[in-house]
Amino acid sequence: MEQSHVLKTFLEYVQIASESRSEKAFAERVANDLRKLGLRVETDNAAEKAHANTGNVYAFLEGDPSFEPLLFSAHLDTVPPGKDICPIVENGVVHSAGDTVLGSDDKSGIAAIVEAIRLIVEQRIPHRPIEVAFTISEEVGLLGAKYLNYSRFQSRQAIVFDNEGDVGTIVNQAPGHMEIEATITGKAAHAGVAPEDGISAIVVAADAVTHMQLLRIDQETTANIGTFHAEGPNNIVPKTVRLAAEVRSLDPQKLQRQCHQIIESLQNACRKYQADLRYTTETSYDSYRIPEDDPLILLLRDCCADLGFPVSVCPTGGGSDANIFNANGIRSVVIGTGMEKIHGVSEYITVENLENTAKLALELMKTR
Ligand SMILES: [Zn+2]
Repeated sequence: MEQSHVLKTFLEYVQIASESRSEKAFAERVANDLRKLGLRVETDNAAEKAHANTGNVYAFLEGDPSFEPLLFSAHLDTVPPGKDICPIVENGVVHSAGDTVLGSDDKSGIAAIVEAIRLIVEQRIPHRPIEVAFTISEEVGLLGAKYLNYSRFQSRQAIVFDNEGDVGTIVNQAPGHMEIEATITGKAAHAGVAPEDGISAIVVAADAVTHMQLLRIDQETTANIGTFHAEGPNNIVPKTVRLAAEVRSLDPQKLQRQCHQIIESLQNACRKYQADLRYTTETSYDSYRIPEDDPLILLLRDCCADLGFPVSVCPTGGGSDANIFNANGIRSVVIGTGMEKIHGVSEYITVENLENTAKLALELMKTR
């Protein structure tokens, strides 16, 4: 069977390794492809801030000024193992050779956006002003999006091509995310001779954890302890425990409340046993919620309807560049490209979804 243009591009793209912070070769290829199509292409100094080897890629194509500009985005990096990816096309499905990820997260998005722009340019299709942001280091904390220069964009709305689910999947809500790191310091003592002189940091931490609400809190809130670290000889009452936890919620108030509940549990336990507590909290990203009647979602619905793709609007439990775009005043949703089983070696995408993603990107660019 003959390979479509977008499939060929995708297969080339995934063979250019771009693990987080090492996106340079791939960023240059994509920038070059866009430049050849006549777009104004720029980069920035996000490399330094993210400790990566290249910056974000921006591209701009002027269009009919009576239509609102739209920002198209996807991320350049992949998770490991992402070197020497050997894509295999089999029965309409693309997968890796089994020892790496495929990289459809997020090169399905990038290939689709580049393909749609190619068709717009080569076939002179009337189109809206098009802006592109291909970000670095999304997988290691949305770093490229955090260091993006938002003043370069005219667009007040963006579509991030970066989700599982068939084309037609629209993610209009994502949780905010906070991280808590805490160190409990008790007092060391000989465990056999004078344990009463010590304060066991493990006992204190365990007491705190039993009073924490964790895991599924409610429909839109979760909390988890990922690190509970203490190590020492059995004959010494342990002096230190280090804990790290995260909280997520679609509701900003619940996010704060849940974070507070965890800290309060730590404080109470430390007070009870007279241990010392040091902690930090950090907001990784804020939640967002785009109403279902928002013009951006209506536009997506119209485009999907014209192409015959069933639409499903849903929330997600994970963060993406859209969280950062929304926090920077660009109304954004994430859409499904058909990537599946991401972040593992069984990752795959169907050729049909790949082609449909490009069709949807084109439909969104066209004036209508
Ligand atoms: Zn992704």
